Amino acid sequence: MRQRLVVGNWKMHGSRDSVHALLTDLVAAPAPGGVGVAVCPTYLHIHQALSLCAGSAVAVGAQDCSAQEEGAFTGEVAAAMLADAGCQWVIIGHSERRQYHAESDALVAAKLAAALGAGLQPILCVGETREQREAGDAQGVVAAQLKGALGELVSAPGLVVAYEPVWAIGTGLTATPGEAQSMHAFIRGELDGLAGLDGDTTRVLYGGSVKADNAGELFAQQDIDGALVGGASLKAADFQAIVNAAA
Ligand code: PEP
Repeated sequence: MRQRLVVGNWKMHGSRDSVHALLTDLVAAPAPGGVGVAVCPTYLHIHQALSLCAGSAVAVGAQDCSAQEEGAFTGEVAAAMLADAGCQWVIIGHSERRQYHAESDALVAAKLAAALGAGLQPILCVGETREQREAGDAQGVVAAQLKGALGELVSAPGLVVAYEPVWAIGTGLTATPGEAQSMHAFIRGELDGLAGLDGDTTRVLYGGSVKADNAGELFAQQDIDGALVGGASLKAADFQAIVNAAA
């Protein structure tokens, strides 16, 4: 039985006041049983988030980490620092990192190894662009991303995969439940044998313009275990409605 999981990716949003308001509301909301909940603020707001979420069912993660352990890497944050701060999760290979920071599959693989080495649970993002889908290459792209990230790893305890079609992120376009289900089932098949993973027990989240009004039909698909949520995670009521839909 795979536990449902809903993760908020706050991207580069937030101030001390807005983080306080959002998490105060979220932590006070009744936590539905059987659903894991996490938020991923900016590095700057992680400490504040950890203190506001302490003792609650809401876990905290980061949006990225360095592939390096430590040293002269200006601007970077090591996975071990995130674990030391109290983070449980880290998003790796988000399409915005791949697109705007030229993160290759090799770099994603190195970050994944660093995260696992530090005891963090990585959320590995994969997904195709609109052009790749239209060219009939969606599965090939996703398979290559999975292999590129996981191919050299012996094990990946606690790893979660997020299928995020790039064309659906922040656009208001969502994969139909059928399109998402079909890719999730494909991902499970691809995961078998990679990094010692079992496709049936590994959680696979959907991400891409998930909102309160489309979450229910996505979560009704048998291979969708929850969501990685961007825009709709910035309002407590909207995010909570998605969490409730996962219950
Ligand atoms: C994301 O950033 O991972 C995401 C899915 O964003 P949005 O929900 O805004 O499309």
